[in-house]
Amino acid sequence: MALVVQKYGGSSVATPEQIRDLARRIVARHEAGDQVVVVVSAMGKSTDALVRQAHELAEHPDPREMDMLVSAGERISIAMMSIAISGLRPGLAVSFTGSQIGLITDCNHGDARVLEIRGDRLRQALDEGRIAVVAGFQGVSTAREITTLGRGGSDTTAVAVAAALQADVCEIYSDVDGVYTTDPRLAPSARRLDTVDYETMLEMSAAGAKVLKDDAVEYARRLGVRIAAGSSSSGRIGTIVSSENLNRETLQSMVYYDRLRWIAFGAGVPLPPDCRLCQSVEGRTVVVVDEKHAAAMEGVPCVSLSLIGSRVAAQRERVDAVLGMLEEAGNRVLAISSTASKYEIFLEDPLPQPLVAAIHDALFTAGGQ
Ligand code: ADP
Ligand code: ASP
Ligand code: MG
Repeated sequence: MALVVQKYGGSSVATPEQIRDLARRIVARHEAGDQVVVVVSAMGKSTDALVRQAHELAEHPDPREMDMLVSAGERISIAMMSIAISGLRPGLAVSFTGSQIGLITDCNHGDARVLEIRGDRLRQALDEGRIAVVAGFQGVSTAREITTLGRGGSDTTAVAVAAALQADVCEIYSDVDGVYTTDPRLAPSARRLDTVDYETMLEMSAAGAKVLKDDAVEYARRLGVRIAAGSSSSGRIGTIVSSENLNRETLQSMVYYDRLRWIAFGAGVPLPPDCRLCQSVEGRTVVVVDEKHAAAMEGVPCVSLSLIGSRVAAQRERVDAVLGMLEEAGNRVLAISSTASKYEIFLEDPLPQPLVAAIHDALFTAGGQ
């Protein structure tokens, strides 16, 4: 018997029909003998809709009230999922909000960090032979306010719950069947990776690969939680994220991210946290930050193309091929940053999808690799 934490994202629980289908699969897993905790996100794009509506009411909504608002989305889906499961086996499921499972965070509304989970209610539900359905993305702060964990934060909830319960695995299901060499929506020939180590996955997530949230991967690495990423429609697991890496390729993935801002600061002005790049240019400090950390309209938009893998910068032929393709497309390189495991190119203009696909294919398909 295994203890499994399963997370289903918004696109997987967008309709009552999807919830009903998943409920069947979850009950079957329970009947096969596993203890199951299910973490769910808000239905479809309902979090986006709530954020939009709040901005129709006020230009700068209060962060505490925003958390109160957006956390409601997950509350709806846990009740729906629990009703669907108990509709199949009366009384089998019980739903919990973040605060009910004692998911304690710091006080940073909208992007709170998990401090601890007092998992006794979860353990009790499992000991009673029930399926626990937990609201992702939310917690309660040390000041007893409702908080949220940043967009995509249900992944973080799932990993934190898995760590607290010492689960055998944390299964994260979405509309893709695993982690690919790049976003398969951008490059149709992207290849699924059977295994990814925590460091590589963390670099990918931090560079903008939304398939797993960076905080969740960081938590998994720190607490040794094995993540299995798979498809919610087939239930198939495609990728295992753990400390092992069976992938021998030097270049493991490419991440294209187009929601960045390039901002120049005068001397002495405090810099924002979470900079993707920070360098000094003619007496000014230039930073690249995610647009979610930039004030409205601050700086100019820019994009990044990140090549991830050990000693990737030393792969001169590949790097030069990418730079050549960008130059040919007339896209100005603003900056390049290179570490032992990542080579990042910051560019002025967004890349058209066919160019992203062509760069991926030059790097990863026969001849490129
Ligand atoms: P959920 O709503 O279930 O949390 P997300 O939308 O957050 O799912 O993450 C899944 C999406 O991540 C996919 O639809 C895919 O477009 C995107 N994605 C980005 N990079 C990758 C990658 N390297 N491998 C797989 N999917 C990726
Ligand atoms: N519902 C939240 C969001 O849209 C959390 C999540 O999906 O993981 O960001
Ligand atoms: Mg997500």
